[in-house]
Amino acid sequence: MKQSSIEIVEVGPRDGLQNEALAVSTVDKLALVERAIDYGARRIEVTSFVNPKKVPQLADAEQLVVQLPVRGDVTYIGLVLNRRGAERALATGRIDELGAVCVTSDTFGIRNQGQSSDESLAAAIEIVGLAKEAGRSGQITIATAFGCPFEGKVAIDRVVEMAKRAAAAQPREIALADTIGVGVPSQVSEMVGRVREAVAGLPVRVHFHNTRGSGLANVWAAVAEGAATVDASLGGLGGCPFAPGAAGNVPTEDVVYMLERGGVSTGLDLPAIVEAASWFTGVMGRPLPAMVSRAPAFP
Ligand code: ZN
Repeated sequence: MKQSSIEIVEVGPRDGLQNEALAVSTVDKLALVERAIDYGARRIEVTSFVNPKKVPQLADAEQLVVQLPVRGDVTYIGLVLNRRGAERALATGRIDELGAVCVTSDTFGIRNQGQSSDESLAAAIEIVGLAKEAGRSGQITIATAFGCPFEGKVAIDRVVEMAKRAAAAQPREIALADTIGVGVPSQVSEMVGRVREAVAGLPVRVHFHNTRGSGLANVWAAVAEGAATVDASLGGLGGCPFAPGAAGNVPTEDVVYMLERGGVSTGLDLPAIVEAASWFTGVMGRPLPAMVSRAPAFP
């Protein structure tokens, strides 16, 4: 392990809910954010400012963010895909950080956000600039970094090149996202290692989906290679509406259990996460994918 602590970004309110058939109320979303703060999350992806017709689950973005608890110690992230989204997020005055997303393939880019790969990178760079002008921070995620649902394998050189170009805009960090959960630990080790080298000095965040069961192993591989931050979602909900067969994110409780027992501190309180997951199961009305919150507590 290259480090004894990492940071977790709770993405449940955004990625966790965007693919759900059940429309979660703004009140419950707010409660989800409050519970995440209670269990120690200090960076939370609260929503996305995208076309409400395409992602109706997050159509209440403005309504939600103006009600977020006012706290100097919590960073609220709003995901945006273009200038219009960035302007909406910044206009609320309540988003601390813009999360921009570029994609490695043209086919996925067109379906997910109506942009080719290069256009998505240009938009992400523009978004970071807008965030900085507004006195906020911006970060760039490279989605489908480990594979594309339409084009298949993604060349690692392409990801490294995109990371370099993204890093030149000096975002807060560069993230590598396995949007469709096809990555495996050997690939993650190589990619995180090469991208860290390419973006010299900028922190690397990782975002894994557990579609094929390799999510937790990928987190471990990424942290071992020096990833500073890991995205996770309470209960393991999540998925991209524009990626066929997408499944949940790595669950916050499972990631925290694995890392803390492995000597990597996360700053999160596991019993409090498990309690939040039990509440959240009631909200969603069905068992959630996470394992740790359904297993007996380990004394
Ligand atoms: Zn995701």
